[in-house]
Amino acid sequence: MRAEIKVSGIVQGVGFRPFIYRTAVKNELGGYVRNRGDAVVEIVVEGKKANVTQFLEQMKAEKPPLARIYSIKADYSGEEEGFSEFQIMRSSGEAELSGSVIPPDVSICDECLRELRDPENRRFNYFFITCTDCGPRYTITRELPYDRPNTTMQEFQMCDFCSREYRDPSNRRFHAQTVACPNCGPKAYLTSYNGEPMECKDPIREAGRLLEEGYVVAIKGNGGFHVATATTKPEPLARLRKVKHRKQKPFAIMAPDLETTQSFSEVNHWEAELLTSYRKPILLLKKRGDYYLSELVSPQLHTVGVMLPYTGLHAMLFDNVEEPAFVMTSANPPSEPIVTDNDEAVKKLGSTVDYFLLHNRVIAQRCDNSVVRFHEQDPCLIRRSRGYAPEPIRMKFVSDRCVLAVGGELNVTVCILAENRAFISQHIGDVENLETLRFLKNSLEHLTKLTNSRVEVVACDLHPRFTTTKLAQELGGRLDCPVVQVQHHHAHAAALMAEWRVEEIVGIICDGFGYGSDGTAWGGEVLYCNRESFKRLGHLESQPMVGGDLATYYPLRMAAGILHRKMDVTEWLISKSHHLPHGKREAEVIIKQLEKESTPETTSCGRVLDAISALLGICYERTYEGEPAMKLESAALEGKDRLKLAPRYIGNVLDTTFIVHEIFTKKDSFSAADLACSAQSYLARGLAQMAIEEAERLQVEHVGFSGGVAYNEHITSAISKAVEKRGFKFLVHHKIPAGDGGISFGQAIVADFQKN
Ligand SMILES: [Zn+2]
Ligand SMILES: [Zn+2]
Ligand SMILES: [Zn+2]
Repeated sequence: MRAEIKVSGIVQGVGFRPFIYRTAVKNELGGYVRNRGDAVVEIVVEGKKANVTQFLEQMKAEKPPLARIYSIKADYSGEEEGFSEFQIMRSSGEAELSGSVIPPDVSICDECLRELRDPENRRFNYFFITCTDCGPRYTITRELPYDRPNTTMQEFQMCDFCSREYRDPSNRRFHAQTVACPNCGPKAYLTSYNGEPMECKDPIREAGRLLEEGYVVAIKGNGGFHVATATTKPEPLARLRKVKHRKQKPFAIMAPDLETTQSFSEVNHWEAELLTSYRKPILLLKKRGDYYLSELVSPQLHTVGVMLPYTGLHAMLFDNVEEPAFVMTSANPPSEPIVTDNDEAVKKLGSTVDYFLLHNRVIAQRCDNSVVRFHEQDPCLIRRSRGYAPEPIRMKFVSDRCVLAVGGELNVTVCILAENRAFISQHIGDVENLETLRFLKNSLEHLTKLTNSRVEVVACDLHPRFTTTKLAQELGGRLDCPVVQVQHHHAHAAALMAEWRVEEIVGIICDGFGYGSDGTAWGGEVLYCNRESFKRLGHLESQPMVGGDLATYYPLRMAAGILHRKMDVTEWLISKSHHLPHGKREAEVIIKQLEKESTPETTSCGRVLDAISALLGICYERTYEGEPAMKLESAALEGKDRLKLAPRYIGNVLDTTFIVHEIFTKKDSFSAADLACSAQSYLARGLAQMAIEEAERLQVEHVGFSGGVAYNEHITSAISKAVEKRGFKFLVHHKIPAGDGGISFGQAIVADFQKN
């Protein structure tokens, strides 16, 4: 019997061909296996019928751990060629199917880590040790099929030893494209801040020693550069904050292992599992009561972002040091993407670091670290990137047109929806300048190529002036396909529907800013959404943003604007004016503007949280996205909801002037922690009640919560309790970001829904 089999899914770069080889040989089958240019694996087997059947069963049941099979197409009609043996054939460029893809980067496996430490092993101390089960994939792949010549390993000719292992079916590096050793693989080396190579026998451990001493070292990883330094000493951290112009934004850190991580943070069962998984994201963990790292790592927050080493190089940094963790923050000039090239790194980072730890392998795809936070057992993806991208999200429905969505403006990702899979790109960032726009264009081209997609619809935001909207129009023209503009919060709600495979939803969507259907700024919305359309059912009260964008940077402006509706703020604002960059003069201008001019308004939930944060003296200046609200959440942890205020509404609008004014009048009688807690509870209760009433009226079973505010554990859990108590099912994102990293996915879904 002869069977021609096509397997699609994540089947290239995961040891699938070697596995097929072994399974075929075990079943005494002749034939071949090969990779194709559309990421599909093609297999031909010939032999006894029972053996072919068993082969197919074993293929499904025993597949390698990282492989994902989406479909198997078997054709038994061909005539037998009489193969005398089974072999792995050279890949073909053939590409007809779309929707398969190479895997994300996989962090170093335990077996490789063991070999790295074994003095008897050929790869003892070799920092880029990998096997068929581990190593970079997405970041080294230039094009498909996934073979060494199509990756950045192409420059490294395998030595005899490596190539023997590569060809040996019994070896765990059989057909591993990243196989390398100290003789033939990439080399690591140290340089001074100006790129001058330094004589050094053990550059990686030397870098670890320099870090411990308090130097700042830029380290090249798989997907980009990171800037590293010690975490227990304030001086290097203060210096890093100064040179990076990062006053307050938390630094991610890397700890050598789980045990060390537990010495300064609390790690629950689910967090431990993900922290040590092959994805190795940064996890936002609660600081322990006896937290002993410098407060400069993540100032005024109750969490610290921790990841474990994901390559041998990172593991070796910790070998001879006492330091419990190193800062490992993305190396990028302000609002530019993470640096990937050695020369560029020296040019752009040379003035901010003392040394470079470089290697000579090119990075084909830039890929930043992923960031995840848990609410109890539920994962919330803040940034879905290394270790996740480009693994697709599987959908319930099959889309008959291929959609490309370009995201919004902040935390942008792009998304390709093909058949029943959505491929979300790595994190691209805030698309505000040419560098990020170029990165965005590269990513969408690469993703289109990887998935072998022919784009038929382009989706983007409703905002007429977003760079991504302009890009979408341009793409639509070039590809001669329709462009669908999707309202920001509609995209959030649709993303939630698609992730949970439900047909309709009442969604609470809270974030910083989204361009509303009426042209005003939205950000605290209750929407009804189904496949056809969406409807705005209610929202937070519209509040003035005195000075426009300035009000997002200086939340006292928001507080003044809201309070002004109920009282004369002159005296209070003047008394706080030392927290404004231009002091008393600025306060006076704000008051004048409030009295005379019409100011832009917003229903943003983020801005109300900001105002309360400033009012309580927790945060007066936003130096990074979400800062005032994040610090408010941290402060509230120590408090209780003592005010227990019942939500007030003006029609279908939640009164936010009331809560801000209440906080103002009670601020001398309660602790800031209690008031922070009460304010968050009021918003959660108010939004939940509004959504529940609408869901009851419309007889909708599911109430969901999306947008950046959904990262707030207090607000999410309060809404969840209220919703579930009334018998509704509560939905939040587990697989895609609740923030704007999930917008491209939602846009693609809406564009697909609207095709008919
Ligand atoms: Zn391995
Ligand atoms: Zn070698
Ligand atoms: Zn948003």
